[in-house]
Amino acid sequence: MTDEELETDRELDTDGELRGPETTGTGAAQPPATFDPPGILYELRQIERRYQRGSTPVLALKSLDLDIRAGEFLSIEGPSGSGKSTLLQLLGGLDVATAGTIRLDGQELGSCRDKSLTAIRSQQIGFVFQQFNLIPTLTALENVAIAMVPHHVRRADRVARATELLEGVGLGQRLDHLPSRLSGGEQQRVAIARALANRPRVIIADEPTGNLDSESANDVLGLLEELQTGDQPVTIIVATHDPEVAGRARRRVRLRDGAVVEDVAA
Ligand code: ADP
Repeated sequence: MTDEELETDRELDTDGELRGPETTGTGAAQPPATFDPPGILYELRQIERRYQRGSTPVLALKSLDLDIRAGEFLSIEGPSGSGKSTLLQLLGGLDVATAGTIRLDGQELGSCRDKSLTAIRSQQIGFVFQQFNLIPTLTALENVAIAMVPHHVRRADRVARATELLEGVGLGQRLDHLPSRLSGGEQQRVAIARALANRPRVIIADEPTGNLDSESANDVLGLLEELQTGDQPVTIIVATHDPEVAGRARRRVRLRDGAVVEDVAA
């Protein structure tokens, strides 16, 4: 299918500033600095994720209860094997729990068919990975624009929004660079722009600074923090081993052996 075939009449707001989804135009005043986020986005109850390793069952998450409010910046910490990736996969709708319920905005993910789970993922969730996961043969611009193809955004609008998002992460001069010509920090900034392409409500990041030097890591964390400003902040969920990264979050959840052992506001 060509780009032209994918074009539709749908008009997109091409305002690609680095910020959250569109406001509802209620004219609400800017929230104060101590903004109390508006409601529960995720509700996890008695979550269990059981894997089978040969004949041995592995309980990666057990009886896990967690509420995440819209607009929170939350870190998930814990030693290797404590269940961080498993939890992120469940939150991202990439996997389903073997027991318990996960609601995203009231909708139970476990009862969704594959197709609606795919739609939820692509409309509401942006993913950022440690390895960046950019397509090596596409330019920075194309890597961001391609995320909008499943949403049938017109080609010109895809290009305009991708350009503005890349400008928003400081890469306006690198639009036509392939990933191999970008530093690790720049590649992760492209990945963040891509994650924002469809105006997600939540960004799920798995060790987003794990492959970066401290200066680039600081830049990437700064960008994630910027998503917290505005009147509809994006919810940020970051799994990390790095206490410095976790220290930037406003709430720190620690896992051990598949259970929450600490949950503190920073
Ligand atoms: P973390 O991200 O904190 O390192 P994981 O969520 O990857 O932890 O893993 C939690 C536990 O579940 C570990 O014991 C791990 O070995 C196990 N596990 C994860 N994925 C699988 C799988 N696909 N099959 C079997 N066991 C798994």
